[in-house]
Amino acid sequence: MPDQLGAPLDQPVFERLALVGLGLIGSSLARVARRKNLARTLIAIDASETVRNRVQQLGLADHVTGDVAEGVGNADCVILCVPVGVCGVVAEAMKAGLKAGAIISDVGSVKGSVVAQVEPHLPAHVHFVPAHPVAGTEQSGPDAGFASLFHNRWCILTPPDNVVQSKADLLKHFWQGLGANVEWMTAQRHDLVLAVTSHLPHLLAFALVDMLGHQDEQSEIFKYAAGGFRDFTRIASSDPTMWADICTAN
Ligand code: NAP
Repeated sequence: MPDQLGAPLDQPVFERLALVGLGLIGSSLARVARRKNLARTLIAIDASETVRNRVQQLGLADHVTGDVAEGVGNADCVILCVPVGVCGVVAEAMKAGLKAGAIISDVGSVKGSVVAQVEPHLPAHVHFVPAHPVAGTEQSGPDAGFASLFHNRWCILTPPDNVVQSKADLLKHFWQGLGANVEWMTAQRHDLVLAVTSHLPHLLAFALVDMLGHQDEQSEIFKYAAGGFRDFTRIASSDPTMWADICTAN
């Protein structure tokens, strides 16, 4: 059947891919990585037992664990798909298990803060290539993910100046396999651009909907919401914890 994701690759990009955090973004990565044969073996790591059970039920990975150091063992690529604010804690927990030559990446909506949290924990024998797929919805959790989430969307890679280019190119190849259009930027530039195109609009939507929710006329306001305001209410229904985390980090 024709499929906008295209045919699976003959050879996977990674032998062993470990995803930490199987929410909207992590579970979407798992779904499309399987469909496109981007990894021979897929490991799912999540702190939540409920999420782990659901990932198992959905058949999203070959191995599911709550133990980060064990899960990243032997992986040639590890992608952090956890909230921005816990990336440092996860990096510290996984450092003992990392294989020499592995690519470490993330999907965080803020780059400067993630780099500052993660880099100090990484051993010299791994390659850190931060990334941000500019794709998402207002939903969370493993049931919210879907395989076409990254199709024809931007993914911004922010490698450090001293990156081994072949490793950054391999991650680019992976994201292209996921269907994304890849762009390079510095972390600082990324955070400036995303502050005005994403973070500030979210902050304004939360503030406006919260303020109107406290008006006496709120039932009429929400009843007749259409067009522009409907988009504000949709954005403001995003996970407030995640967005507080993002706005604080940038
Ligand atoms: P999500 O649906 O809430 O998923 C996050 C997952 O990480 C949850 O399963 C969570 O478990 C788990 N987790 C939290 N702390 C953990 C830890 N210490 N160790 C292991 N697992 C942990 O969030 P998401 O929307 O996928 O966002 C994930 C990342 O993607 C964030 O950094 C965000 O900035 C970025 N991003 C999001 C979007 C978007 O539109 N949502 C777009 C682009 C990038 P619990 O549920 O138990 O906390």
